[in-house]
Amino acid sequence: MKTQLIDRFFRYAKLDTQSAEGVTDRYPSTEKQKDLGRLLVEELKAMGLTDAKMDPYGYVMATLPSNLTEAQLNKVPVIGLIAHVDTSPEISGANVQPVLHPHYNGSDIILPADPTQILRAADNPALQDHIGDDIITSDGTTLLGADDKAGIAEIMTALQYLVSHPEIKHGALRIAFTPDEEVGAGTKYFDVAEFGADFAYTIDGENMGEIEDESFNAMLAVFTVNGINVHPGYAKGKLVNAVRIMADLIAQLKTDPAPETTEKREGYLHPYAIEGGVEKCTLKVLIRDFTDQGMETKSMRLHQIRDSIAALYPRAVIELEIKEQYKNMKVKLDENPRVVEFALRAVEQAGMKPRRQQIRGGTDGSRLCFMGLLTPNIFTGGHNFHGRLEWIAVQAMEKATRTIIELVKIWTADSLKTV
Ligand SMILES: [Zn+2]
Repeated sequence: MKTQLIDRFFRYAKLDTQSAEGVTDRYPSTEKQKDLGRLLVEELKAMGLTDAKMDPYGYVMATLPSNLTEAQLNKVPVIGLIAHVDTSPEISGANVQPVLHPHYNGSDIILPADPTQILRAADNPALQDHIGDDIITSDGTTLLGADDKAGIAEIMTALQYLVSHPEIKHGALRIAFTPDEEVGAGTKYFDVAEFGADFAYTIDGENMGEIEDESFNAMLAVFTVNGINVHPGYAKGKLVNAVRIMADLIAQLKTDPAPETTEKREGYLHPYAIEGGVEKCTLKVLIRDFTDQGMETKSMRLHQIRDSIAALYPRAVIELEIKEQYKNMKVKLDENPRVVEFALRAVEQAGMKPRRQQIRGGTDGSRLCFMGLLTPNIFTGGHNFHGRLEWIAVQAMEKATRTIIELVKIWTADSLKTV
């Protein structure tokens, strides 16, 4: 299994599948993501998943048919397994050269093509769990792309295992490899009905043993300050400077919780982009919280700031628009606790201590849950995503693959037992 995982992962990692931010006139955001999609369709077909295909948006879908009897078949739900093909736009994903460091001895790892890139044992406590294991990094000039090519390699290897072990009985499995996850559009054209799974799992998390069943609630707030521009030489009593007003507005946020001052279950307000001049200035603020109550309070707080600044500058027009981005998937997952419980049990059966974790962000699952498909997130074993120091242990990939296989077994056993 290890050799298969390494082979597959290296093959996928070497393909440049970086997605691009801010692309609105085409989907996926970059055509090169389909290179990996095409390869995966071929490999799925070669494995016997004959219906494998990629649609014009770049979604790859395939079925591993059930090997149960007709009578058993309708008792076992169709389970979906999902991973994304793209890598983060933040760091180059071109010409990725994965490097295998066998039998890790616990020291720092210097990345060969850029010795300034050092994976330090002190900064990466998880490395200590992998002494004696085989670590994969990039050569130091690019990201590695374990996010989420590790997830793809793990799903593919689990499929291969099930195909070559027909004694393991399972319901139908639906597979999806999706584009543009890293730019927040992974589910934009995802056809839940066509996918046809009853429940699904993304394989896109980090630490070994973690199942993520909760994400942030997310909204985007946009403040617009409309000032009045006049030639500055003749501006007395006339000019209304949107830049200065916006500076005052931002200063009001000084004591609110921020990403750099919060952790775990705390939410925040994050002013992250500003644009404009004297006549018009806009500010984008992310609102993040795990609870609806917290979202409400934070939105109200922004409205208060708007009102107080508007009162200070009556000649300016100050607008605030708040839009929903995604919601905490936990409310949906709680409707059917088995979906997460089985994943935790699978982790245990694969020989790890299972841990429930909340994501301080979103995942494709947060949207899928609200599109009618319950989808928690399973670990891949990768670390330091979206950076040049990204790494993964082959043994962690093996554990993730085992978790998928155990999960399939649990769904079969439990569904047949309860009837
Ligand atoms: Zn990912």
